[in-house]
Amino acid sequence: APSAQAVRTVTLFPGDGIGPEIAGAVKEIFRAADAPVQWEEIAISTKNVKPGEDLIPQAALDSVRRNRYGLKGPLETPVGKGHKSLNLTLRQALSLYANVRPCVSMPGVKTKFDNINVVTIRENTEGEYVGLEHEVYPGVVESLKVITRQASERVARFAFEYARSNQRKRVTAVHKASVLKMSDGMFLECCRRISKEYPDIEFKEALIELCCGYLVSQPQRYDVLVLTNLAGDIVSDLAAGLIGGLGLTASLNKGEHVVLAEAVHGTAPDIAGKDWANPTALLLSGVMLLREMDLHDHAERIERAVHQVLQDAQCRTRDLGGTARCSEYTQAIIDRLGTA
Ligand code: ATP
Ligand code: MG
Repeated sequence: APSAQAVRTVTLFPGDGIGPEIAGAVKEIFRAADAPVQWEEIAISTKNVKPGEDLIPQAALDSVRRNRYGLKGPLETPVGKGHKSLNLTLRQALSLYANVRPCVSMPGVKTKFDNINVVTIRENTEGEYVGLEHEVYPGVVESLKVITRQASERVARFAFEYARSNQRKRVTAVHKASVLKMSDGMFLECCRRISKEYPDIEFKEALIELCCGYLVSQPQRYDVLVLTNLAGDIVSDLAAGLIGGLGLTASLNKGEHVVLAEAVHGTAPDIAGKDWANPTALLLSGVMLLREMDLHDHAERIERAVHQVLQDAQCRTRDLGGTARCSEYTQAIIDRLGTA
């Protein structure tokens, strides 16, 4: 493993819309925090791509594979040009099998609950998203949900590893095995089996509908949740909604050989180029990446500065009811790095 101060090269896709602005903010803050990160920046422009062409150039994928770590801003997927979605392309090309979203209440940001601290880990390669649907005859459609032992164990193991290395205490497998006895039944069985390898982490099981009910009434019950693909898609958005907004939610995609962090939100074309975007989600995605690279001190320092600025409430972007520009908010975080 590299030493704490060895410089890591990280691929950066600034992306479309507000992407370049918020990626610029992340670069400035990382530099000010002396994070030993050197960016390999690649502008992927989806606008110039012709129908049927690869949206993501081979060189961009090779860069992430070589560096093993990447940070991605929002990318626009051209509609109706016969392209596969960009996220799907990336997921498949880089074998990104798990999506991680920490949903943690931000100091000073008013939401229904003020002590949420839940991480959702979503299986990202199979389940209902295998795209196997067909019309048996007019008016009757079948859709397949594929669950494999290999992918279930892989995501379960990752959930326990994540819990262990992020000082978390409990992993809850969320399922509907009461009805989907074979598919969710096997997913649950895999989670149980893997849990035995992690006696230091508590293992629980929850039916998905009960889990949703508790998330919106007693979210403190949960720590790390591990879910199949569609369930994870829904529950991760639910959890993100609890902490108050697209501009705040970070995420990370784990692959077999790479880690690609990205903000949850889209390109926000309505405010692009106006210096109004909130860079927090991408910044905290970058902080997750720092932790993956074992740069825990730098991660803590940046995260504390963000929390202090939000707590202070003097400098907030418009999506959080403030008047600050992206550049002003960025500077406020940098000013706090010294004291954080
Ligand atoms: P896309 O088509 O790329 O998904 P979108 O229009 O759906 O773009 P989103 O990014 O999904 O935009 O966000 C929806 C709304 O939330 C937008 O109106 C945008 O202004 C706001 N928003 C999203 N992200 C941010 C951010 N980081 N800072 C401020 N506002 C944001
Ligand atoms: Mg959108």
